[in-house]
Amino acid sequence: MQSPLRGQMMDMPLLISSFMQHAARHFPTTEIVSRRLEGDIHRYTYRDAEARMRQLASALEARGIDMGERVGTLAWNGYRHMEVYYAVGGKGSVVHTINPRLHPEQIAWIVNHAEDKMLCFDLSFLAIIEAIAPHCPTVKTWVAMCDADRMPQSNVVSLVCYEQLLAEGRKDWQWPEFDERSAVGLCYTSGTTGNPKGALYAHRSTVLHAYAASLPDAMRLSAKDVVLPVVPMFHVNAWGLPYAAPLVGAKLVFPGAQLDGKSLYELFESEGVTFSAGVPTVWQGLLAYVKDHLCKFSTFRRTVIGGSACPPAMIETFRDYYYVEVIHAWGMTELSPLGTLAQLQSKHNKLSVLQQQKLLEKQGHVIYGIDMKIVNDQYEDLPWDGTSFGNLLVRGPWVIQSYFKGEGGDPLITDAQGRRWFPTGDVATIDEDGYMQITDRSKDVIKSGGEWISSIDLENLAVAHPAVVQAAVIGVAHPKWDERPLLVVVKRPGADLTREDMIRFYQGKVAKWWIPDDVQFVESIPLGATGKILKTKLREQFSNYELPGST
Ligand code: ADP
Repeated sequence: MQSPLRGQMMDMPLLISSFMQHAARHFPTTEIVSRRLEGDIHRYTYRDAEARMRQLASALEARGIDMGERVGTLAWNGYRHMEVYYAVGGKGSVVHTINPRLHPEQIAWIVNHAEDKMLCFDLSFLAIIEAIAPHCPTVKTWVAMCDADRMPQSNVVSLVCYEQLLAEGRKDWQWPEFDERSAVGLCYTSGTTGNPKGALYAHRSTVLHAYAASLPDAMRLSAKDVVLPVVPMFHVNAWGLPYAAPLVGAKLVFPGAQLDGKSLYELFESEGVTFSAGVPTVWQGLLAYVKDHLCKFSTFRRTVIGGSACPPAMIETFRDYYYVEVIHAWGMTELSPLGTLAQLQSKHNKLSVLQQQKLLEKQGHVIYGIDMKIVNDQYEDLPWDGTSFGNLLVRGPWVIQSYFKGEGGDPLITDAQGRRWFPTGDVATIDEDGYMQITDRSKDVIKSGGEWISSIDLENLAVAHPAVVQAAVIGVAHPKWDERPLLVVVKRPGADLTREDMIRFYQGKVAKWWIPDDVQFVESIPLGATGKILKTKLREQFSNYELPGST
């Protein structure tokens, strides 16, 4: 039996603490700026941050938080949240970021499932903490992330002040080395169906993901950037930005709880933000603000938009009115989250502007590390022709292998070549150049007369209408066609828009049989905890609805 010759390079484990060690040594004066809940702006440097992270890690150790144990967070994007990320993960414990927009009962369920030993929270979530504390017996310490003089009173739960906890730590504590396959973070999927399931990230997967995310054809991050993650740190680690920013030495700006258009715009301008990332719904607020106040961006040049399909109209508005490049991206909790991003290659220079635009509207090309394919229901490969669509499968070193505690059994499937793949639950096409386009989530696709209609395509068209603020398309039962599309619309205030106008708007833009059968105008469309349209809720809302002429 032959054995390979072992390489003779340093065998250093890939640990997330190396990001902050690197930033503190090589970008010591680069800033981390945060809008605090207290209302003021906090700023310090990577050097200061890393020192506090080590001290906090030492305090956690002294309090008996062991390796592998979970520390929960209920917090906005801010410097203390970043400190918890690194102190907990860097010492070999696991940071469990919890989405505060979930219902308290769901939060308690997640905390119990994760068996969090400590929970660090921003003061805006005190009411949630008081509601869940009696139901969360594993949590021994509740940490209020505020200064000592801001400590709230609670009759329900005994609180520890974050700053006092940190002060208990030793300043000379050093980052330990351990196996890079150790867990570093835990993030639950939002559980739109069934109970939430935990994705348990490893140091190795997190480091590799951060490297790949920074590449020029991915987020194109560098020390020249000022990065403002609008995507919350409780939504798949803010898409890896708290790891990628110190990796490249970029300045970080955290917006705290104020995610409205005005607050974001002011922070973009005052801190010279060049790069941001978020789901489409948050950009609607920012774009509405800059439009109404005739603002321009002085430094903002690039944003990654993903989490749900970015409407082409949003890409165009950012580009044509504000000179901001939108990089459309696709990913999911189970992928840490990045899988594909849409950018052009040199060979695309010869395409017309319109053809280039069409490519950039897709969810994009894989980054190194991720492989993907589309298959039919028998798991047979489908061609990459840009029109055949099927179930999207992925694999790679930052793709989930099994859910936390083995929940839901083995999530992977094995193909004819014996390779293991993760079925994403998305339906997609892949073109000759390897650009993937999501048609729909498999449970959202509208099945009409044996053919599929993409709800995303119909929604993208609807929001291109100037009188439409938000739109969602769901399938409604139909006696002849199984399902037909129903368009649900939030109108721009004061706009005069009728059902007939909307139906006419589709004519000539899609196949006749794709045109929604009806339009319903609503005050608001339900959004899930990560800011995405909650189709399940919408389907419930319209469960008794009957399409015109269907009976
Ligand atoms: P959840 O939405 O369940 O909280 P994730 O945040 O992990 O979970 O969402 C992943 C899903 O979001 C993907 O499987 C896909 O359906 C959808 N998604 C993410 N990015 C895009 C995109 N750019 N276009 C369309 N759908 C997207």
